[in-house]
Formats: sequence, C-alpha cells, structure tokens
Amino acid sequence: MKDKIILAVSAHEDDLEFGCSGTISKWVKEGASAYYLILTDGSRGSDIKGTKKDDLIKTRAKEEENAAKILGVKEVFFGNFKDGELKDSSEVREKIVRTIRTIKPDIVITMDPEILYNAEFGYINHPDHIEAGRATIFSVFPYSRNLMSFTTLLKEGLEPHKVKDLYLITFDRKKLNTFIDISETIELKTEALKQHKSQYDNFKELKSNIIMMSKMIGKESKKYKYAEAFIKIQIRD
Ligand SMILES: [Zn+2]
Repeated sequence: MKDKIILAVSAHEDDLEFGCSGTISKWVKEGASAYYLILTDGSRGSDIKGTKKDDLIKTRAKEEENAAKILGVKEVFFGNFKDGELKDSSEVREKIVRTIRTIKPDIVITMDPEILYNAEFGYINHPDHIEAGRATIFSVFPYSRNLMSFTTLLKEGLEPHKVKDLYLITFDRKKLNTFIDISETIELKTEALKQHKSQYDNFKELKSNIIMMSKMIGKESKKYKYAEAFIKIQIRD
C-alpha cells in the first residue's frame, strides 16, 4: 500500500469508522495516504430534545476530525449537504468528482447502495447511505475520468482521473469478495469510534458489538482473527 492514495466517501460522520476504519488505519500504517469525504452535515444525528442544529454540525465535524487523527487520515472534506435529504444529484456528484480529481486516489471506498434492509441483523438502511453509495459509484465511473463531464472543474485545472479499485462496504454476505485483516488495528477502530460521543450512550456495549462483528467477519475469512469485508471492483480501462 506504499504511496497509494485512498478516498473514503460516506453520508455521515461515523459511517466510515463502522465500515472501514480498521482497513484505513492498516493501509496508512503500510504507507498509504487516506482522505475522507463526508457528504452530509450530520445535522439530524441526535435524539436529544433541544439540540441546536448548528451546534450538532460543529460537534460532529470535530468528532470526525478527532477520529481521523487517530486513524492517520490526512484530511477530512465535508460536503455539508443536508442530513437526511441527500440525493444522488449532479451537485453531489460534482463535489465527489472535485475531490477525486483533487487528490487523485488509486482506491475509493464507499457504501453498497443496493442494501435496503437486512432481516438477519434487523437493519433498515439509511436513505443517505444508499444515495451516497450511488453518487460515489457514478462519480468514480464515468464522471471523474470523463473529459466532457463537469467541464467547469477542468477550467479550474482539475483534470480527469481514473480510479483503479472501488471497495464497497456491505451487509450482503453473498457479494463479499475481499477480506482485510484488521487484527492489528481493531484497537484504533474502536478508539476512533469512541470519538463520536454524540452518537452513543454506552461505549462499552458499542465496543463489544464492534469486536464481535469484526470477529465474525474474521471467522468468515477463514484467515484472520478480526477482519473487515468488502466487495472489491477492479475497474477496467
Ligand atoms: Zn450513517
């Protein structure tokens, strides 16, 4: 992973800590440079009455900056689109394409947009996650590499860029094709999640769930004690 550039794109602060922070910190340790793009402002992420949106936006951005620091992420970009209303639109795609053309990643990580629910885990996906995944996939292909798309970016000197590999964070066990060993970075993953104080009541419980999940994926890999899993797409030229 030496000298590789990685961009992880999600809807909300904390999504990437749950989905891929063990992998990100492992790759950073191996010499990669990692960047985050958080598309929404996180302004609906509270169940506490009387919470002010502006305060929450600032708190959550700070929590993400702290988590990124622990993982060795170089910079966090924020889209500041409205939380809960994200759409796979031209505006959102332009933000992602702008980021891709600026940092020129070899690898992009995002969320699998095909997950609507998972009955086994009693999970219904957040619509922002689906929109973020779709917008990122289409930004990787074709828009980032296409000369005739987003020509205003070209005028700013942001040349087309070809991303080589796309990794999707997914709940669909049947589609997984890549396991990453996070045995040496599981502590960093839980430590990064701990920074998102506005998002949990009981960190002990959260930590044990994360460890249990990582162990389960590790078992599935048949190789690693703790793992994260992805759908990896190597993009053809
Ligand atoms: Zn989320």
